[in-house]
Amino acid sequence: MKNIKYADLHNHTTASDGIFTPNELVRHASTKGLAAIGITDHDTTDGIYEAQKAGKNYGIEIIPGIELNTQEDKFEIHLLGYFMDYNLPWFQDILTKIRDSRYYRAQKIVNNLVNIYGMDLEFEDIIHKAGGRHNIGRTHIARAMIDKGIVKSIPEAFEKFIGEGCKAYVKRYKLTVPEGINMIKKAGGVPVLAHPGLISDDSIIERLISYGILGIEAYHSKHTYQQSQKYVELAEANGLIITGGSDCHGDSSPMVGDIVINYESVNELRRIAKLS
Ligand code: AMP
Ligand code: MN
Ligand code: MN
Ligand code: MN
Repeated sequence: MKNIKYADLHNHTTASDGIFTPNELVRHASTKGLAAIGITDHDTTDGIYEAQKAGKNYGIEIIPGIELNTQEDKFEIHLLGYFMDYNLPWFQDILTKIRDSRYYRAQKIVNNLVNIYGMDLEFEDIIHKAGGRHNIGRTHIARAMIDKGIVKSIPEAFEKFIGEGCKAYVKRYKLTVPEGINMIKKAGGVPVLAHPGLISDDSIIERLISYGILGIEAYHSKHTYQQSQKYVELAEANGLIITGGSDCHGDSSPMVGDIVINYESVNELRRIAKLS
């Protein structure tokens, strides 16, 4: 047991909608005895530098990553990317375009919440609490609603007000799944299908695999044991890398390290990244 190395490959920081700064996240990870963690913020790589500095300090390897929310028909499909050459200017240009659309969408959603429901919310306030306009998400809006006593939890905010299908919901610009996969591969990274158990129609997963996904996040905090087993088998049947992570956002469960994968997965991701 003692010599086995573990990694948690799915975590968010204040660079997107996490509560922990990159340094805090790495510090928490160090108390769990993890060998490595992935930094997979939504549409940004801005947390990676600070995390890597902290990683040296705490003796944890930091795997550079990203989570892209892409669209396939009516389904939002989350793609994880690992080991990209993320400083490539064209790569950052696409992320900037996505983040701009997040900003304008958030503004429209807050307007809707104020105009439709008369909620006491200030867009500038939400931006300020999110630490700037860098990467605003619906989670930040949900937290503002909790602060004002409008809802009790983030899931409640999504169910009643800001989830897809709700009156205040607004669409934003998203990549298609093939575009997301190609973007990650072109930058030398490995595209992995995030939390397939959260996709409401399992039958589309084979199609997503056919687009060129190279790994599946079989282990995730919202997967049941049976789901994890099923996705392990699916990955094995298709020769895909099996990954896993907590999807820690910091404000409630799960915590970094709650879901781990054998460090061998990190070696496989690195090997495939070098080949691509
Ligand atoms: P956005 O990135 O602005 O589209 O918001 C999506 C993010 O909100 C996801 O990455 C999750 O972190 C969070 N989220 C989405 N749905 C829910 C939910 N039902 N309960 C809690 N968090 C959610
Ligand atoms: Mn999130
Ligand atoms: Mn996700
Ligand atoms: Mn995530």
